[in-house]
Amino acid sequence: MEFADVDLIVIGAGCAGLSLGFNLAKMGNAAPRTVFLEQRSDYQNDRTWCFWGFPKTPFMELVHNRWSTVKINDSNKKSTLIHCESSPYQLLVASDFYEHTLANITQNKRLDLRMGIQLSSEPTLEGHDWLIHTNHGSFKTKAIIDTRPISINSMGNTKLWQSFVGYEITCDQPVFDPNMAYLMDFCEPNDTFVGFTYVLPFSSKSALLEFTSFGSQPYSKDDLLDQLEKTISKYVGKRHFSVTRTESGLIPMGLESKIAAKGNKIPASYARVGVTTGSARPATGYTFQRIQIWAQKCAKELQQTGLPINHPPDSFLLSIMDDIFLNVLRNNPAIGSALFMDLFSKVSHPRLIRFLSDQGSLLDHLAVIVALPPAPFLKEVLQILKQKLSR
Ligand SMILES: Cc1cc2nc3c(=O)[nH]c(=O)nc-3n(C[C@H](O)[C@H](O)[C@H](O)COP(=O)(O)OP(=O)(O)OC[C@H]3O[C@@H](n4cnc5c(N)ncnc54)[C@H](O)[C@@H]3O)c2cc1C
Repeated sequence: MEFADVDLIVIGAGCAGLSLGFNLAKMGNAAPRTVFLEQRSDYQNDRTWCFWGFPKTPFMELVHNRWSTVKINDSNKKSTLIHCESSPYQLLVASDFYEHTLANITQNKRLDLRMGIQLSSEPTLEGHDWLIHTNHGSFKTKAIIDTRPISINSMGNTKLWQSFVGYEITCDQPVFDPNMAYLMDFCEPNDTFVGFTYVLPFSSKSALLEFTSFGSQPYSKDDLLDQLEKTISKYVGKRHFSVTRTESGLIPMGLESKIAAKGNKIPASYARVGVTTGSARPATGYTFQRIQIWAQKCAKELQQTGLPINHPPDSFLLSIMDDIFLNVLRNNPAIGSALFMDLFSKVSHPRLIRFLSDQGSLLDHLAVIVALPPAPFLKEVLQILKQKLSR
């Protein structure tokens, strides 16, 4: 059997694969000889990525919209305004990202993106080489980066699921204030999930509205459509609108660490990354910027050692805070909106934005702890301690 011999295979060329490819492309001739194996046959405008922007945030030039004021509403119409001029909330359109990264990747002759690929079997290790068989040939490689999502059945111990469905709509009359995004517009508190709508206006007549649930159960797009339509009619009233794009997703929040770190059990030449293997921030699901940080570090590591890296683990303090927060939300979804209102009304916004973007100082972490009501959190801390002592 004939094998194409390369330095690196990247399985999956979505956000993580292409972000790494973009960083490798910049290395010119020093880039490892890399093949990207992607199952889709073309790229669609299948999602938008939002994050708080900082001066060094990658892909700032591709940002489609940014908002310097965002709002949180609780179900009693109480609201908090977040002024974020220095790190605006911004949105990147997937089709722009795909086009830009692909243009860079295809310019580097050492990088090769293969589309419409199906793996015939799982990669196997022979000596120091990995062998991979696909519907379009076989490969021998020194290292693998696997960005395929783990199946939902392997994520049984996920603390919470972030399930969402969104419509981009265009109305025939002005409806939205293009300068004001709603980060969370909470629905009535209930005992099953924390639900809110996300409203990102592009103009007075068009916006992305997304209904999101943080719940112990994952929900499908169809499960959430009623809630989304209800919330759209709240904003749009009787005005006519058309749906121009739909997106939906499911992000695990707080994967059991043994799953997130699955890649650690296999040789250092095989890394697992992506939204289901440690790239998503447990308490928020924010992933895009964490993938960018990983992609920069991983490209450097590949250049220096030839070996890939997994997503770096979060600090002990951040992991334990996210863990406790997710436990509180899972066990008390009805108080979810009040907890977020506490955070956004009591913590200074630059501090909170740094904390949410993994850039918090110790004081930022402490400000978040102090802002939250002690009772439900202490209960969870005691519960966690009890579990640890009984092991
Ligand atoms: C609709 C949506 C909106 C999101 N919005 C945000 C946001 O606003 N902010 C944020 O931070 N995060 C957001 N996320 C979460 C996260 O940033 C994205 O899911 C991101 O795309 C994750 O990158 P990834 O590389 O892990 O997965 P993907 O981008 O999904 O890439 C995985 C790739 O692997 C390929 N693949 C899968 N199986 C195989 C196989 N067997 N063989 C070969 N290839 C395979 C897929 O086709 C895909 O191209 C969003 C997610 C979704 C779904």
